[in-house]
Amino acid sequence: MRVAVVGSGPSGCYTAQSLVQQDPDVLVDVLDRLPCPYGLVRYGVAPDHEKIKSLQNNLRTVLEHERVRFLGGVEIGPGGVPTARLRELYHAVVYCVGAATDRHLGIPGEDLPGSWSATEFVSWYSAHPDSTADGFVIGARSAVVIGVGNVAVDVTRMLARGLTELSPTDMPHPALTALAASRVTEVHMVGRRGPSQARFTTKELRELGSLPDAEVAVDAAELALDPAYLDPSALAAPQRRNVEVLRGWAAAESRPASRRISLRFFLRPVELLADGGRVGAVRFERTVPDGRGGVRGTGEFEEIEAQLVLRSVGYRGMPVEGLPFDAESGTVPNVDGRVVQGCSAVPGEYVAGWIKRGPTGVIGTNRPDAKETVTSLLEDAPTLVHKDLPEDPLDALRAAGAEPVEWAGWCAIERAEVELGASLGRGVVKLPDWQSLMNAVHGNVS
Ligand code: NAP
Repeated sequence: MRVAVVGSGPSGCYTAQSLVQQDPDVLVDVLDRLPCPYGLVRYGVAPDHEKIKSLQNNLRTVLEHERVRFLGGVEIGPGGVPTARLRELYHAVVYCVGAATDRHLGIPGEDLPGSWSATEFVSWYSAHPDSTADGFVIGARSAVVIGVGNVAVDVTRMLARGLTELSPTDMPHPALTALAASRVTEVHMVGRRGPSQARFTTKELRELGSLPDAEVAVDAAELALDPAYLDPSALAAPQRRNVEVLRGWAAAESRPASRRISLRFFLRPVELLADGGRVGAVRFERTVPDGRGGVRGTGEFEEIEAQLVLRSVGYRGMPVEGLPFDAESGTVPNVDGRVVQGCSAVPGEYVAGWIKRGPTGVIGTNRPDAKETVTSLLEDAPTLVHKDLPEDPLDALRAAGAEPVEWAGWCAIERAEVELGASLGRGVVKLPDWQSLMNAVHGNVS
């Protein structure tokens, strides 16, 4: 059986791994739009999270498996290889395309210059080749991060780190230089609900308190608006641990530091205010708990100064050409990974990862998720394998206009990143644009 996995992030790699582990004969092509594998592990995990980044070594073993083939630079869907053609080339296709866009706030001023989605900021410092935005921190003294999930914690931390801490990372040089020169001294991370409802995980939260030259400030009276902060006994362990960390900070003495991270709660963003044609502040409405896990507005407002606003309110899945789509959840309707249209499964089409379950969980969550999908696929295999396929899908992909970057091409990119880092007196430094990535690939070919 020959299977295409679309997307080489954690869910794609774990799907490929599960396939070769559970079926001794299956051949798997892992296709990716980018010439580089690993999805959000390469382009989403913060550069200073080296331990999480090292997961790439595990994913690498999967892509180097003798029955797995990485084919980068292959766009599936409009502008690339149509999904219908892909179905003709493989017995089954598993879409592991993640959640490709960000949620919007839908409030006035959201698109003012100086207001960005956290994803744009993350893509910039992660050297995503599609990133065109620049100048995030220029002229900014105070930043507001809207949302209290792990992405909000990541971008807050990156704003609060200094040159010494960022230099050893693989961050592209222009981003490193810009962040090192940043004058942002105040970062406000703001949640619309209470501390016991924040989405960040305790490990990530705690890390904010261990940054060498940044102080974390919380307002004990604001935290105390949350009944579960005052009495956390009924909370689940992860939330209780978060509350304990915040309680420790509320009781701690202030310490001198160049930057200050203020964690704020019960503030709902209502408008971004302009100052000289750019964002100058965010206007929030104060909220109070409604007793049902939500909040209600109080009619009281507060403005927080910000020349930089990062909206970190979650990702959103995008429709996949030819597949059904649930716009409400931003996912492809499925049962145990089998794509379903109406009441029946679409033969040979599967999903795994965020496009299957929504943008939740940590990297490891994708392992059991992928396994579930693969179990469904292998149950269906006896009916799927009857289809006649062309000799090698690679030729057909090329005939459809794709120019696949094979594993050797990716290895050439890796070597070019080592060389770039050495030339800058740093470790590995990522190539930040399509041109330099493709130059590296073609250098290898020649
Ligand atoms: P998230 O965990 O869903 O957090 C989104 C945040 O945005 C929540 O605080 C949410 O508040 C808030 N929000 C949503 N709509 C809002 C609105 N209209 N106004 C104000 N606030 C709003 O999303 P994420 O931070 O993007 O993370 C996505 C996934 O990646 C998560 O599973 C996360 O754990 C994972 N991740 C993990 C790591 C790590 O392990 N180090 C790093 C990055 C990401 P409500 O709760 O009130 O809706």
